[in-house]
Amino acid sequence: MLRIECPYCGPRDEIEFSCGGEAHIARPPEPEALSDAEWADYLFMRTNPKGALAERWCHSLGCRRWFNVERDTVSHEILRTYKMGEPRGGGGGGGGDNSGGGA
Ligand SMILES: [Zn+2]
Repeated sequence: MLRIECPYCGPRDEIEFSCGGEAHIARPPEPEALSDAEWADYLFMRTNPKGALAERWCHSLGCRRWFNVERDTVSHEILRTYKMGEPRGGGGGGGGDNSGGGA
């Protein structure tokens, strides 16, 4: 079981959290201007990298707040956690962050 550091409550067991998928996917400012393929890309296509991935998690059995987790998809190691609105930044790995959503 993973131990996840909630930025508000501190470290807790994984069972208290639920994962909300990839983080930092920006909603297109003018969805009506997109083609169906571009809209489908925004809704469904994710980067699925081998290595560092930023995900949204909710401390659903605790403070019920959302925050971001940077996790290694190979080892499942939690690289860091940070509050919503904070930049992903952090140490290397990853690459091509803002792809997919534009803006
Ligand atoms: Zn919490």
